[in-house]
Amino acid sequence: MSAEKTPIPLGSNFIRAIVEKDIEQGVYSTRKWAGTPGDAAHHAAGQPDPAKIRTRFPPEPNGYLHIGHAKSIFLNFGLARDYGGVCHFRFDDTNPEKESQEYVDSISDAVKWLGFSWENVGPEHNQNSMYFASNYFDLMYRAAESLIENGHAYVDSQSAEEMRIMRGTLTEAGKNSPWRDRTVAENLSLFREMRDGKHADGSLILRSKIDMASPNINLRDPAIYRIKRAHHHNTGDKWCIYPMYTFAHPIEDALEQITHSICTLEFEDQRPFYDWLLGRLAEAGMLAHPLPKQYEFARLNLTYVVLSKRKLIDLVEDNHVSGWDDPRLPTLAGARRRGYVAEGFKLFTDRIGVSKADSWIEYTILEDCMREVLNESSERRIAVLDPIKLVIDNYAVDADGKSQTEDCFAPNHPLKPELGKRVVPLSRELWIEREDFMETPSKGYFRLVPDGLVRLRYGYVVKCTGFEKDAAGNVTTVHCEYLPDTKSGTPGSDSIKVKGNIHWVSVAHAYETEVRLYDRLFKEAHPGAGDSDYLNDINPNSVTLITAQLEPSLKDVNPEDRFQFERHGYFVADRKDSLAGKPVFNRTVTLRDAWQK
Ligand code: ATP
Ligand code: MG
Repeated sequence: MSAEKTPIPLGSNFIRAIVEKDIEQGVYSTRKWAGTPGDAAHHAAGQPDPAKIRTRFPPEPNGYLHIGHAKSIFLNFGLARDYGGVCHFRFDDTNPEKESQEYVDSISDAVKWLGFSWENVGPEHNQNSMYFASNYFDLMYRAAESLIENGHAYVDSQSAEEMRIMRGTLTEAGKNSPWRDRTVAENLSLFREMRDGKHADGSLILRSKIDMASPNINLRDPAIYRIKRAHHHNTGDKWCIYPMYTFAHPIEDALEQITHSICTLEFEDQRPFYDWLLGRLAEAGMLAHPLPKQYEFARLNLTYVVLSKRKLIDLVEDNHVSGWDDPRLPTLAGARRRGYVAEGFKLFTDRIGVSKADSWIEYTILEDCMREVLNESSERRIAVLDPIKLVIDNYAVDADGKSQTEDCFAPNHPLKPELGKRVVPLSRELWIEREDFMETPSKGYFRLVPDGLVRLRYGYVVKCTGFEKDAAGNVTTVHCEYLPDTKSGTPGSDSIKVKGNIHWVSVAHAYETEVRLYDRLFKEAHPGAGDSDYLNDINPNSVTLITAQLEPSLKDVNPEDRFQFERHGYFVADRKDSLAGKPVFNRTVTLRDAWQK
């Protein structure tokens, strides 16, 4: 593609370059309405302005959207937004058996969650740009009849197996079907009989009549309508014939007056058929020029995940995960529950760009984008994930032996002092992390060690005076004494310098809850590489359930509130399992990458 060779401005890509050139040259400024006002084609095109670009995002409602789709969503909706056009949100629902309303709903949720809307959009801000391919079945049927009438399509009576043999190979031309020369009248009547349910599923098929010797196998009379008695989620039992995807898709684009039909590279070989079909329908007066054009870009391949709907369906149906929104799945519903954020996906898609070369993107790039966004947006909180007790033996107790409590003040966000501080209560018994105490410290270990000093973050410097172990030899309790003049935020806080700084939660005030430590679902960068079964590459430790001790303020947060748990990573209150006053948390991502070799 020549546009690739011209210099592309920063933050741009070859598709943007094409769009900008088309706008500059006014390619679409003369566009007229397809059809006449009031008819379905006219309706499909929506409201003016015909001069603006129109893109589309055309998911098939046969599964949940995944991270790969996010790339396509940001590209298509992003182009429309940036160039004042419209992106049509279109369900490509031409394959009834695998489609359902559940998928329609989840796909809509995901698009909305990523920050895009199909309501009140377009230059006039009054357009609803959600479309269903199945609304065009009548028009598609008419298009098929028009092809027949003009000698561009025929009904074939060969079996699927016979057609496969006659199709030829990459090196060998195909052979014409013995039914290829049926008359227009015979084809029309057979096609109508197909529609009227007079023939069994698979017994007849409508094919385009192009060239069985074409070097492009996709042009060897590809099928355009098949008989399939299946209930459709939108049209019910109205139809027993359904259009093939490759026939339906260009027509959908043309009816909606899409300008730039952007798809993934595997459709490159389909482009000649796309252009052939729309060309024939324009000749027949069914469509108006300029016609939409197809452009291909490289799909997203991400290490450590699978982005194939079939595999995702298997993972869900065979219970390798807990459902479509399992936080370990690369579905957008799963990513959301995991605590990933839409802005992180935006940053990610900007960073990886759009190109025509297939490549693998490292999963850490996605995680780093989430870290970057969450670092900015998340308030800090304290959580002890693997608790042991720390007793401050010289801490004041009341006459009845009960520990006193005092307020310490922790900043909500180190980069945003305007967010203020919150109170964290300190008392005689605290929870600290098991790994923050070492009986025989290794070199460079600056946390709690026998006789050593450490700062309790936002509190005092303490000195370790002893520890207790259980029968198995595990440390259960550490004892210490605090140095009363050293409280953080007081003039004496700097009087003693210590190297270590550990976090803690008061035992009497802690909120105990479940925390799910999620990790990657696959342990191999390329699950199922070669001929291996991707299921063998599932990471057996992709989730660890723990009972953690959290600072009391975390008890009252809302589902989907996100925090950085200091020293641990980013966490979100699970949107499904959190009850009022009893949130549970999911680890979104650790502070640093533990996977890099
Ligand atoms: P199927 O095999 O069911 O067609 P699909 O992943 O292509 O699966 P669609 O619902 O057809 O699913 O996808 C909608 C749009 O998202 C298409 O335009 C497709 O090109 C794009 N898309 C799908 N997967 C990726 C990916 N990994 N990277 C970028 N775009 C993608
Ligand atoms: Mg697809």
